[in-house]
Amino acid sequence: MKNRHRLEHDLNFLTSPQAAGRLSGTAGAHRTAHYLKAELDSLGFDSALQPVGVPAARLTSTPRLIVGTQTFSPRRDFAELTALSAGGFVNSQLLVVREDDLLRPEDFKGKVFLILVRPQGFNLAETVNAAVELGAAALLVEHGEPQWFHKTVYSGKGKIPVLRVRTSIAEELAHINGAQVELDLPLDRATRPCNNVLGLLRNDSDFTFALTAHYDHLGDDSENVRFSGAFDNASGVAAILQTARELAKEKLPFNLLVAFLTGEESGLWGAKQLITHPPVPISAIINLDGIGSEPKLNALRLGHRGRGDPLAELGESVLLKRGIQAQWVSGSDDSSAFISKGIPTLGLGQQPTGQARSVMHTPLDSLELLHLETIHQGVEVLVEIARSISEIQKEKNHVYAK
Ligand SMILES: [Zn+2]
Repeated sequence: MKNRHRLEHDLNFLTSPQAAGRLSGTAGAHRTAHYLKAELDSLGFDSALQPVGVPAARLTSTPRLIVGTQTFSPRRDFAELTALSAGGFVNSQLLVVREDDLLRPEDFKGKVFLILVRPQGFNLAETVNAAVELGAAALLVEHGEPQWFHKTVYSGKGKIPVLRVRTSIAEELAHINGAQVELDLPLDRATRPCNNVLGLLRNDSDFTFALTAHYDHLGDDSENVRFSGAFDNASGVAAILQTARELAKEKLPFNLLVAFLTGEESGLWGAKQLITHPPVPISAIINLDGIGSEPKLNALRLGHRGRGDPLAELGESVLLKRGIQAQWVSGSDDSSAFISKGIPTLGLGQQPTGQARSVMHTPLDSLELLHLETIHQGVEVLVEIARSISEIQKEKNHVYAK
């Protein structure tokens, strides 16, 4: 198979029903890890699965919300808010909470609160705490009119079920204050055994250059509601793998470590594990999170700018030479975990704008929206940065040597 076609093959697998949205700790993520490991093996890398415990929240079945006689549709009409919510089953009365209502504390006890309007300066975490103190059984919060509600898998210490609800539905519910609510949020919060996929190509050097990308995503809701995570981050994984294929053919003056990371979506757990337990000391890292959202690679996020960091300067010069705008935006992706440990890191990715931004963490982030040509351009950039590092290494006046 031609190299370009390999990348398409990888993207097809990563976004397939077999990978099932690649949620950390699921069979889909496990299959993905083995697929990536086999690819690294075939390229001559010394590969291994690195165990990582990933705390995350996960739906074990489809959530239900019935108010009065109406049944609402998960992800479309309402969605779980994993970071602030507990799972649970609630059968109680609806209580619409308005700012100017005169309610006694006993009016709240055991009810399902509905926040109909979020006032200016609304703080969700504080509101959840207040609802818990008042003895709420669950909390519903109006949250706009998205096509799909964003999915999250962050796990928090919430004590009651908390749901976001479509504004138009919240307004309907306001007319049936006091109606019976049946709410089932099968949310399981646990630390699960997961794996980073590591591949090392040793070249008898004390310099190790790492290419990383997270392979986990949010997991399918059901067969019909798939979260294929094409941009986030099948694109980055496929581009890094393709870059590894190109570089494996060359005699490199450094060790090359490729790491496909788990647990990014619930808190950068794979990145933290890699950086505290690297197979060899890591000298510099390029992380790629999200590429292919636009038809052309006009701009690329380089991440946090480390003052005088030669890797950052190098990355910027490669982009500028190709007419690609360098954006200095620090993300909340895995690169921030590496930077916080002081490792020279480029956090590459395309900044999704407009339509591309609203598809993030929804079923709309699918393969059909990806621009393959842009991903191929990204691979060229990665290969060129790696080769430039090679040149610096060869000239022996490299700035990275310890
Ligand atoms: Zn994500």
